[in-house]
Amino acid sequence: MRFNQNRKSYSSFDLGERNVKVVVLSRDYMPLMYCDIRRAIALVYSNKAEIVTESGSFLRSISSRFPIPQVIRLLGKLVKHIVPKVTYTRKNVHIRDNYTCQYCGSRERLTLDHVMPVSRGGKSTWENVVTACYPCNARKGSKTPEEAAMPLPITPRKPSILMQIDWHQFFNQAEA
Ligand SMILES: [Zn+2]
Repeated sequence: MRFNQNRKSYSSFDLGERNVKVVVLSRDYMPLMYCDIRRAIALVYSNKAEIVTESGSFLRSISSRFPIPQVIRLLGKLVKHIVPKVTYTRKNVHIRDNYTCQYCGSRERLTLDHVMPVSRGGKSTWENVVTACYPCNARKGSKTPEEAAMPLPITPRKPSILMQIDWHQFFNQAEA
């Protein structure tokens, strides 16, 4: 854990009062999720994560102060589990698409996009629905990818196998 002794500005911080989210990156710096500060600090102190960016705030004890992270990076390899039932659900579509907008690659503000729009008879199926960010979803509107000049890199299909990241390897042990 990096410790910046020379930082001039800091503020006191009460963990119970502020609901600040910390960005969690994978070992290869892909954004995965948000977590709260308690979890983030627990991960750092159990050597399961390192601080990438500090928030500028500090957690203070009687004898020392510790930087509160804004972004942390998990140090372990992500363990993935097979989702037993490959049923069509919003969550499973996101898992199939690795929580990534299929049009622009964004991992933020995700929703589902009907490739053939619902207004034109498009169905909610594995083959017609992809993960998209809200801006891409709005930009595409009621067009097909061809009409909108937003080609899909992969033809959506029902996956034969679905893998989900196992968070327990980080969070249960870190909180214990
Ligand atoms: Zn997008």
